[in-house]
Amino acid sequence: MSSQWLSKAFMKKICENPKTKLKTLIKKAHTNWNVDLTNTKATRVKQQALDEINGTCGEQYRRIHDYSAELLRSNPGSTVRIQVQRPPEFQLETPIPEAREKPIVSMLEDIRVYLMNRWAENRQSIITYNGEILLKINTKIEREFDKGGEWLAIYAGRDKYEVSNSQGNRDKFVVDLKLHGCSCRKFQITGYPCVHAMSCIKKMCLDVKNYVNKCYKKDTYVDCYQHVIYPMNGSNMWDRTQNDDVLPPVFKKPIGHQKLSRNKAGDESCNNGPLSKLSRARQQ
Ligand SMILES: [Zn+2]
Repeated sequence: MSSQWLSKAFMKKICENPKTKLKTLIKKAHTNWNVDLTNTKATRVKQQALDEINGTCGEQYRRIHDYSAELLRSNPGSTVRIQVQRPPEFQLETPIPEAREKPIVSMLEDIRVYLMNRWAENRQSIITYNGEILLKINTKIEREFDKGGEWLAIYAGRDKYEVSNSQGNRDKFVVDLKLHGCSCRKFQITGYPCVHAMSCIKKMCLDVKNYVNKCYKKDTYVDCYQHVIYPMNGSNMWDRTQNDDVLPPVFKKPIGHQKLSRNKAGDESCNNGPLSKLSRARQQ
């Protein structure tokens, strides 16, 4: 039975779950058609079905300029840069691991749709939030504020304080509220007051919110997600642009198990056979 026929027969199943295990396909082929598939053939069948579903790799590269045109049409003011002749093995870090295994346009589309949806959800969820400081960070700040009571602040002048431990140990820190800093450095690193700075804020009855970095504020969050990533059409609706075809990078995907080779130490022989073991034994 040809792998092409089988890939068509499995199309629906693989479309529903692209992570369908080879074992499942092998079992199904045996039950339905009494065909015994090898692992290699099952891999090929699955890959053919996935290529059909996603469009083949080559086709997606050919239409990359059309894709960019549609992106610019649906999201005016955006910038798209297509860089060709890059080295064949390039990596893209993505929050959606499945996207990395797909042909280029499917991969970019997965990322775009993920961001479009995530942006919209974040934009929506912040509307109902009433606090000035974002929830998670606010909880941390409240905790630091409570612990501020364990420290004793003495004002020195020009917004500087000497802060000592009220529980009897001899630790001391210097806080500068104007510069938003403490000698423990936590204030500078986190962007919100450490326990030592909190003791100063408490002593002077100041508002903690004024000492929290603006990146933790609701206004900044709203600003960050205000831009809409607009929806766009599928390849069926893209205009054909007049650019040269882009070819996929030269990369041959091995079928089946990959042979792993170990990096050999400088004095090891290239020969892996029993002879090399003997010669090593003789050296000892
Ligand atoms: Zn501190």
